[in-house]
Amino acid sequence: MLEDKDRIFTNIYGMHDRTLRGAQARGHWDGTAGIIEKGRDWIVDQMKASGLRGRGGAGFPTGLKWSFMPKESDGRPAYLVVNADESEPGTCKDREIMRHDPHTLVEGCLIASFAMNAHACYIYIRGEYIREKEALQAAIDEAYDAGLVGKNAADSGWDFDIYLHHGAGAYICGEETALLESLEGKKGMPRMKPPFPAGAGLYGCPTTVNNVESIAVVPTILRRGPEWFAGFGRPNNAGTKLFAISGRVNHPCVVEEAMSISFEELIETHCGGIRGGWDNLKAVIPGGSSVPCIPGKDMRGAIMDFDYLREQRSGLGTAAVIVMDQSTDIIKAIWRLSKFYKHESCGQCTPCREGTGWMMRVMDRLVTGEAEVEEIDMLLDVTKQVEGHTICALGDAAAWPIQGLIRHFRDEIEDRIKHKRTGRVSAVAAE
Ligand code: SF4
Repeated sequence: MLEDKDRIFTNIYGMHDRTLRGAQARGHWDGTAGIIEKGRDWIVDQMKASGLRGRGGAGFPTGLKWSFMPKESDGRPAYLVVNADESEPGTCKDREIMRHDPHTLVEGCLIASFAMNAHACYIYIRGEYIREKEALQAAIDEAYDAGLVGKNAADSGWDFDIYLHHGAGAYICGEETALLESLEGKKGMPRMKPPFPAGAGLYGCPTTVNNVESIAVVPTILRRGPEWFAGFGRPNNAGTKLFAISGRVNHPCVVEEAMSISFEELIETHCGGIRGGWDNLKAVIPGGSSVPCIPGKDMRGAIMDFDYLREQRSGLGTAAVIVMDQSTDIIKAIWRLSKFYKHESCGQCTPCREGTGWMMRVMDRLVTGEAEVEEIDMLLDVTKQVEGHTICALGDAAAWPIQGLIRHFRDEIEDRIKHKRTGRVSAVAAE
């Protein structure tokens, strides 16, 4: 179990003072100017050495991403954009940072922006996050009043402005290029890549888009050293991580733990176990709703990190762990996700626009059992036609949960169809 002294987020439950004074008492904003004095290259090198991989789902190495930004400006400004549009079902970790420990993020924005030669940072926060927006804006205002951001931020000699932008609640604006479009005042529709944001991002200028948690951990990593951070987790899966566990556990929670913790330890230590015991565990979606589920029997020994879960043909994603027990109608649970992705498709590419609706309508019938057994393979085939054939990852996100369902619970789907035929179905209708 991660010891308290190694926690980056020391107020994740809001038990302490979240104001600047409280944050400083817990060690934040300590020696910020000294970190900036060490220079851009030093910061990027330290981040690379820490092994931090992006916490927004894709797990791309953060230091490497920063190094894609131009070293010298060609006259265009550079921007850091923080993706606080946390909208994936099951994912609720950045919310806790913003409402209870917002100064970790504000300080991180300053340091990361400096490292990327950006004098301005935009935080794009999810439309539904009203209280979080208030808490974060209060922290930004406090930082301005204390001279920690603004002209000569924190006495570092670096001028830095930070803007909080409130989204309107569209899931797709969590996709980085849709987010940039939305920030620019347009419809939140993903852009074709290339160009990548580091070449032409916000207003056509070099931009890096990072997740809230990825930025909020930066100051502590730099203060404590990359070796300290890299000391947690297996190689290539370094650091501490916020896990958001929901569903059929006794105590759902958000908790900071070491990467590569076992699933069993995570659940037993922090969630009071599975409801009804381990034999009652049916399946787990380990990384937010867009990754395939894993059957309960395969999760007992699971290691919660990027590489292990990818080997299981799933993913760590945002580490939003959704636990389902034997009472869960898993067909209906995945149908609900299909409905979500269909609703959130921006509609600009055909496989996603048509495919998400098509998949959802077949899922409708699988839930009630009013389908043909052959349709299961037909559905699987459609998921393959959507996957990898769209502008952004929403197409994959809609396809993967269904693929996971069919891979692991085909029997259950077939049983439901057969029972429907024989009139013995007790299936829960998708209403
Ligand atoms: Fe829009 Fe879907 Fe295409 Fe993404 S995959 S750009 S959400 S239509």
